[in-house]
Amino acid sequence: MFSPDTLPWTNSFASLSDDFYSRVTPTPYKTDARMLHFNPAAAELIGLQAENSNSPDLVKMLSGQSLPQGSDPLAMLYAGHQFGHFVPQLGDGRAIMLGEVSHEQTGKWELQLKGSGLTPYSRDGDGRAVLRSTIREYLCSEAIHSLGIRTTRALAMTGSDDEVYRERIETGAILTRMAPSHIRFGSFEVFFYRNQFEQIRTLADYVIEHHFTELKQPELQQQANPYLALFETVMRRTARLIAQWQSVGFAHGVMNSDNMSILGLTIDYGPFGFVEAYQPGYICNHSDHSGRYAFDQQPEIGLFNLSCLAQALLPVLMESEDDSPDKAVEMAKDIMTQYQPLYIKEYAGLMRAKLGLVEAMPEDQTLLQELLDLMQQNQVDYTILFRKLGDFRSDETQNHELRDLFLDREGFDQWSSRYAARLAKENSNDSERKVRMNKINPKFILRNYLAEIAIRKAEDEKDYSEIDVLFKILQQPFDEWPEFESYAGHPPEWASDIAVSCSS
Ligand code: AMP
Ligand code: MG
Repeated sequence: MFSPDTLPWTNSFASLSDDFYSRVTPTPYKTDARMLHFNPAAAELIGLQAENSNSPDLVKMLSGQSLPQGSDPLAMLYAGHQFGHFVPQLGDGRAIMLGEVSHEQTGKWELQLKGSGLTPYSRDGDGRAVLRSTIREYLCSEAIHSLGIRTTRALAMTGSDDEVYRERIETGAILTRMAPSHIRFGSFEVFFYRNQFEQIRTLADYVIEHHFTELKQPELQQQANPYLALFETVMRRTARLIAQWQSVGFAHGVMNSDNMSILGLTIDYGPFGFVEAYQPGYICNHSDHSGRYAFDQQPEIGLFNLSCLAQALLPVLMESEDDSPDKAVEMAKDIMTQYQPLYIKEYAGLMRAKLGLVEAMPEDQTLLQELLDLMQQNQVDYTILFRKLGDFRSDETQNHELRDLFLDREGFDQWSSRYAARLAKENSNDSERKVRMNKINPKFILRNYLAEIAIRKAEDEKDYSEIDVLFKILQQPFDEWPEFESYAGHPPEWASDIAVSCSS
């Protein structure tokens, strides 16, 4: 029988001093643990076979009952700007990193158990995660990955009959997630606040050494400050990540700087949502009363978070003792000014592709904006519209299925004649365009109501079959899946009553 002891465990993060983390072990469930779901695709990344998911030792490890030999479990320290306010100490309050597993082809993966009990950073929390939020993260991280967007991955969900107390009594669960690193912007901010500048340098060196090896090329090191190059790379990855979120209609919901990955991954899934009836100011997080993290605010918030990171990096951006702090500020600012144009370029490129356009033309931005305005006025579903746009026929005066998505049909007709003219300008071929568009416009996203149905079945009947279905289609969201047509349709009316808010 497989034992997780046989995996090649290391923990490079633990080789840093304990300024950066606290050693802590998971707290097992009180009642019997079981595997609720296992992700063979993620398992493969660390050389784990799907059939090993039945191994009792693996279940024990993934439910915090036993530690694999060679692991060195810890909770990471970080701070962060939450809703614009600095919180000097956060840290993994309910996530424990078991260690890293290395794989020849895919590199090194940190394995974290989220919901595995108290840590020194738990503050008022209980260190646990409820089943419903675990299912949401499990499904959505796989959906985001399959949409081609970088994210932490979900390896497995374990559960038990243990109760967790929230507004009501709920079932607890543990998510095992994996990423090359879970280091956040806030991991740097905590040391800036404490005036521990050497730790900032150590952490930046660690990140470059282990995760940005391209910054170690001798040419780069000679010409430029490696910490500035690090900041620039993070800026670029963040701009790209958020442009991708916007293009698929993903709202993260809690873009606090402690929820921003230094690797540019989507991390910490909580009250996220996908835009359905198009509304640029969509707020998915029920507790976000001011709309700070509304869908259309995300690009701007990305820049705010980068400014938090820049501030934390200032002490190491000064190249020598003689450098004035002003020079470091100027260098950081120079990089930050590149963010918006870069974001716009990334977003425009993605949206052009969503419209099926190959060449870039000056009128594209207006064409897109006119469509988005019409969608907003007519409350047209974002995902359904773009998927159906692939069926647009340039030689038809009325594309009925598309047209019927709009109440203002004349408005759509006017737009569609401009679209047809624009397609003609690049001699676009309808059937080739459809093939291209279906590779970028997903048919399936994780709609809140779909997750909700899966959650209710799991909570009420311990029936995880709906998770199976969603997992399968969301792993291939560009496929047609004719047998699951209803999963691609409009949300039912009751979906508008679903409310999701911060940590649960
Ligand atoms: P989140 O909004 O989930 O990113 O969490 C923000 C902070 O609160 C992080 O430091 C979490 O570790 C911590 N936290 C959230 N929920 C809990 C919990 N149930 N127990 C302990 N800490 C928690
Ligand atoms: Mg968080």
